[in-house]
Amino acid sequence: MSYVVTIDGPAGAGKSSVARRVAHELGIKYLDTGAIYRAIALILARSEIEPGSDEFLREALKDIKIELKENSVLVNDFDVSGEIRTPEVDVLASVYSAVPAVREALLGLQKAQKNYGSIIAEGRDVGSVVFPDAKVKFFLTASPEARAKRRCLERVSKGQDANYDEILNSIKQRDINDSTRKLAPLSVPDGAIYLDTSDMTEDEVIKFIIDSVNEALSK
Ligand code: C5P
Repeated sequence: MSYVVTIDGPAGAGKSSVARRVAHELGIKYLDTGAIYRAIALILARSEIEPGSDEFLREALKDIKIELKENSVLVNDFDVSGEIRTPEVDVLASVYSAVPAVREALLGLQKAQKNYGSIIAEGRDVGSVVFPDAKVKFFLTASPEARAKRRCLERVSKGQDANYDEILNSIKQRDINDSTRKLAPLSVPDGAIYLDTSDMTEDEVIKFIIDSVNEALSK
């Protein structure tokens, strides 16, 4: 029988790399919901559709087709996977994702992913709003400083510029945006296992998650 695992948490908590590796180890699909919010924010900003205009946004969203492939996100048939990983899109996604019309438009697409087999979904509200009945839920967090350090190392490893102070400020700002918005704010979902990974290695986090999932599945 197929099942859903969710990982929620703030920016830079290591959710993506952990979820991707857990998906690989368990042989299930990985759903990166942040990539969907990033893609839609990029397209809306490019089309100069302001986040304030709810009515206008609702209309515009009807013409935007988002598709999720194994390792890419397509918007109206264009692969935007590379373009959505920039500091500018970090901010845009955080702003547009607070708009009710955007969240409503993307909910069905996210929920539908469980029709294609077992998944591990990662985001800000996957355990609370998208998959409240998930088999196992996790909330991954770490101190802002630990998260900024990890983001810095990640950017450097990709050959991108990385300024620790700027990244730390951006993380703190996104924490405020994501946890104070009215709709689906970042919060620990009911029944989620809370994990502070500040002093854990990625391997330790992955082992913990896989052990917890296997235990839940064996019951
Ligand atoms: O996880 P990632 O950093 O790629 O997410 C980008 C932004 O998308 C987040 O800062 C958050 O504002 C938004 N997001 C969301 N709900 C999700 C996933 C992401 O609001 N489930």
